[in-house]
Amino acid sequence: MSFPASPAPLDSPLALDARLPVRPAPYECSLPSAGLILVDEINGFCQVQGGALAPQADNAQVTRMVALSDDVARCFSAHARPLLAFIDSHSPGVPEPPYPAHCEQGSGEDELVAELAWLESDPHATLVRKDCINGYIGAIDPASGVNALQEWVGRQRLKTLIVAGICTDICVMDLVLTLLSARNHGLLGEVSDIVVLEPACATYDLSAESVAALGLPAPAIHPQRDAHHIGLYCMASRGAIIASQLRIQA
Ligand SMILES: [Zn+2]
Repeated sequence: MSFPASPAPLDSPLALDARLPVRPAPYECSLPSAGLILVDEINGFCQVQGGALAPQADNAQVTRMVALSDDVARCFSAHARPLLAFIDSHSPGVPEPPYPAHCEQGSGEDELVAELAWLESDPHATLVRKDCINGYIGAIDPASGVNALQEWVGRQRLKTLIVAGICTDICVMDLVLTLLSARNHGLLGEVSDIVVLEPACATYDLSAESVAALGLPAPAIHPQRDAHHIGLYCMASRGAIIASQLRIQA
């Protein structure tokens, strides 16, 4: 099985790719030692008009991400391989600067998108709620210090981590960069490959006009294709494997 069926060409601005090259390639994934991590594929980020940080109209990159994540997740589950899904979930009234209020508990925004809601009752899935961008940090119980992500990686004796989700340059990137340091620091047991499945990642689009209309500062401008590319570049340049396709060996 391959996900997607043929390697996805990278839809990045050519001038950016020439200067900050990203070269996604098919990745041969040995399923018996792999775990899948899905980041924030929830209503508040993925459902059209699902919240302040959700797409306001159908978005091809987000649609592609959810469909492919669902395909890969079903393959992992069918082979009894572990999945971990992060869910951005904030206490009501507690802001997460610099973002507008989003994914508050009880709002429905902090629930998996409809296509992935089956994970809630899947025996192979672990759901981890977090109240910050970086899932590695968000997985730490502040009271006990126990890290649910680290514990999951160790318990499952994982050697390969496949990562997908939203946003490529925010929650996915912070997690992957931290995973790379954690691996190099000996915190991730036998993990060797940290793989980002590019066509199963997405980010959002916020135009200069929208930013001006919302009264936000200039760095809030967020062109989707550029930001996605920059996220991939930062992860690739730190040692993550950027995959255009997963070739599964069961
Ligand atoms: Zn958040």
